[in-house]
Amino acid sequence: MSTDSPVRVADLTKAYGRRVAVDGVTFDVPAGCVFGFLGPNGAGKTTTIRMLLGLIRPQRGAVWLCGAAMRPSHPVLARVGALVDGPAFPRFLTGRRHLTNFARCGRRLDTPVAGRVTDVLDRVGLREAADRRISTYSTGMRQRLGLAQALLTDPDVLVLDEPSNGLDPGGMHDVRTLIGRLREAGRTIFLSTHLLAEVEQICDRVAVVAAGRLVAAGTLDQVRAGATLESAYLNLTGHSGVVNAPS
Ligand code: ATP
Repeated sequence: MSTDSPVRVADLTKAYGRRVAVDGVTFDVPAGCVFGFLGPNGAGKTTTIRMLLGLIRPQRGAVWLCGAAMRPSHPVLARVGALVDGPAFPRFLTGRRHLTNFARCGRRLDTPVAGRVTDVLDRVGLREAADRRISTYSTGMRQRLGLAQALLTDPDVLVLDEPSNGLDPGGMHDVRTLIGRLREAGRTIFLSTHLLAEVEQICDRVAVVAAGRLVAAGTLDQVRAGATLESAYLNLTGHSGVVNAPS
C-alpha cells in the first residue's frame, strides 16, 4: 500500500451491536484516480464511507486522508468534498443562498464566495434553478445541489456515495463528464455506486465488498479478469439470483 495515496484504510472494522458491518477492510486510492467502490445492498459501503469521513469511529483499524490520520472534525476534511446518503437541506432557502451559507460557515475559499457559488451551480446544471427555494426542487435537483456543495471548496479528494441517485440519463451523463474533468484536473475521486456500466466507463481502479469484507481490489482489468464487470461482480459477491420464473 502506498503511503502517498490520498485515501488509505487499514483493517477497518465496525459492528452495530452483534452485526459486523465492515470487517477488516484494507485498500488505498492512489492520487488522481477514479476509484469505484462496489458491493451489494448492506455490504458495508456507506459504513466505510462514514468512517472515511470521520462521521463514525471504527472499532478497529485506521483511515488516513491526504496523509493525516483521521479523527472526527479533523482539519484535513477541508481538503475533502463529500456527497453522502441524500443530504438534507434547509428547504425554505434557495440553492444559491444555501451554498453561500455553507461556504461561509467556517470554510476557507480562495475565491470570493458569490463567484464560486455561481461556478459550482453552473457545473452541476442548476443555473436556472439557483434562485428557487429548495422545497421546489426535484429529487435529481437536490442531488445536483449536494454535488455542488461537495465541489465548493475545490477539494483534492471527492467522496461520492451514489452520486447518480435520482438523476435522469442526461444528469448521469453530466456526472460522468464532471468526474472525468475532475480527474483531468488531478483530483482523486472515491465513487460508491451500483451502476457497473458507469464504473466501466470512468473508473481506473475498483474495490468490491461483500458482507463487510473486501473480496477484490485492483485495476478495472484486474477485477474483471477477462470477463465483464457484471459477471465478475456477481461471482465475487456470490450472487445466486432471487428472481424466479412464474409457475
Ligand atoms: P446499500 O448499498 O444498501 O446502501 P451499504 O453497502 O451502504 O448498503 P451499509 O449501509 O454500510 O451498507 O450497511 C452495512 C450493514 O450494517 C447492514 O447490515 C446494515 O443493516 C447495517 N447497518 C448500517 N447502519 C446501521 C445502523 N445505524 N444501525 C444498525 N445497523 C446498521
